[in-house]
Amino acid sequence: MRAVVFEEFGQDAGVQDVPDPVPSEQGVVVRVEATGLCRSDWHGWMGHDPDITLPHVPGHELAGVVEEVGRGVVNWRPGDRVTVPFVCACGRCPACAAGAQQVCERQTQPGFTHWGSFAQYVALEQADVNLVAVPEGLSSATAAGLGCRFATAFRAVVGQGRVAPGEWVAVHGCGGVGLSAVMIAVACGARVVAVDVSARALELARSFGAAACVDASAHPGGADEAVRELTGGGAHLSLDALGSPVTCAASVRSLRWQGRHVQVGLLPTVAGDPVVPMARVIGQELEILGSHGMAAHDYPPMMDMVRAGTLRPDLLVTSTIPLDAAPAALAAMGKTPGAGVTIIDPMK
Ligand SMILES: [Zn+2]
Ligand SMILES: [Zn+2]
Repeated sequence: MRAVVFEEFGQDAGVQDVPDPVPSEQGVVVRVEATGLCRSDWHGWMGHDPDITLPHVPGHELAGVVEEVGRGVVNWRPGDRVTVPFVCACGRCPACAAGAQQVCERQTQPGFTHWGSFAQYVALEQADVNLVAVPEGLSSATAAGLGCRFATAFRAVVGQGRVAPGEWVAVHGCGGVGLSAVMIAVACGARVVAVDVSARALELARSFGAAACVDASAHPGGADEAVRELTGGGAHLSLDALGSPVTCAASVRSLRWQGRHVQVGLLPTVAGDPVVPMARVIGQELEILGSHGMAAHDYPPMMDMVRAGTLRPDLLVTSTIPLDAAPAALAAMGKTPGAGVTIIDPMK
């Protein structure tokens, strides 16, 4: 099969012919029809993820068709259209037993713990625990994002964030996951303040129903003051959807008393731990929450909203590129601020 391979961290990746994957006993091999370009792929390529061994094939938000199933798989057959949470759970550890597969203690992640979906085929583990059927009428380009950015945003806003109608929600960073969060929060009846350095990203956020937009380039130290002004004292819920020390602290300082901060964007450990304004967390009884994907069994409420058209993940896809263009697009992620979502089509 053809796949995007990198042999050194941060060095040019290339498209190569590599052996086809084979399914494990409980796993499947999926023919990839679409795979999203995510900032976590860039972190992996840069060497920020300790799970990655070289040479490596990135890619973790995908949709496609089951090609081959392992002998122990019960619920899936070749030809099924599927997506998968990027956290593939083991199904047996204490976290899984508690229903928290998104923080499974023995998780695998395509594109991190093993070769991923910037390829014609990808192996996925524990298919019966992790695969999610793609509804008819939903394109693979749209469904790919349900494996990472969109599901992550859904859990961050609805699950961990506990958004309620009428609340103010601040979203710091309007790349793929941030724009998804804007759309989801608006659909839940919240008033959203979108923050980004990119005019195009803010334009998209406004088109998805954001009530106010803040140009973060005018606030290099963080846009928290602007958010507090716009919301009459602070947001009820604020997300750092980018993952940087500045946006993390700004998100916490954006909150009103007893507000909730959800950290969604990855903060790579190589950069050290960010400074969180803890005096404020104590004095104002703020909540600091993390969000890490979403378990397959938590997908139905999100899928219902997608089917009903209340959520439109299709509108987030702004470009589709062939596999050959993926290495350059991956490298560019570190330089250009994201606006919208790029999907790679490995069949092109
Ligand atoms: Zn991702
Ligand atoms: Zn587990």
